[in-house]
Amino acid sequence: MNEVLRIAVQKSGRLSEDSLNLFKECGIKFDNGAGKLKATSSNFPAEFLFLRDDDIPGYVEDGVADIGIVGQNVHVETSKHVNEVKLLGFSKCRLSIAIPRSETYGSVKELEGKSIATSYPVILGNFLKDNGVTAHIHEISGSVEIAPSIGLAHAVCDIVSSGGTLLSNGLKEVEVIFRSEAIMIGYPNLSPEKQSIVNQILFRIDSVQRAKN
Ligand code: ATP
Ligand code: ZN
Repeated sequence: MNEVLRIAVQKSGRLSEDSLNLFKECGIKFDNGAGKLKATSSNFPAEFLFLRDDDIPGYVEDGVADIGIVGQNVHVETSKHVNEVKLLGFSKCRLSIAIPRSETYGSVKELEGKSIATSYPVILGNFLKDNGVTAHIHEISGSVEIAPSIGLAHAVCDIVSSGGTLLSNGLKEVEVIFRSEAIMIGYPNLSPEKQSIVNQILFRIDSVQRAKN
């Protein structure tokens, strides 16, 4: 039986381009035309699944995909049983707490008893616990930055890139709670054949990276 490795990558978003380039630079050819949900490589035993990033850890835990690429933020937040195969160095971002610009901030203790809106309840909960702070975590799935101005929460915890979104919503960043980059995750019980395909990919990635340095 010739095994084919199933690789899950984000369909469209901030991980997509670098994820696809990673495999292309390894010499793995495939067609990722617009709207495609699946593609088979023409020169390597691999098949690509194009998915929402949030769904990737679950597919990898279940073995529907053998490996996948997600942000560490999504990997830690979803808390699935997968192997951490390799950190990839792209899609770097940070998860921060922000409060209204008009308010003063001395330390994390000031969040005691406050409500914080976030799409990352697990990571935020860990941070608060580590700091001995009890706050109400208000989980929302998007447009987190608007929460304070509409009275939904005192503070927010969200991905910050430039800070422009915070600024335009009258917020300021006060705590960085998590730093993230892309990570390759893997199904923990791969067959020896599939593991050897993963090893070939890792070997090629190392060669590409060495050639760049
Ligand atoms: P999907 O539709 O697949 O659910 P999404 O909107 O959840 O997409 P993106 O905004 O494309 O996700 O972000 C994907 C991942 O890229 C994030 O989980 C994070 O790890 C990383 N990321 C987020 N913002 C940035 C940024 N400004 N710069 C670099 N990486 C980022
Ligand atoms: Zn997502």
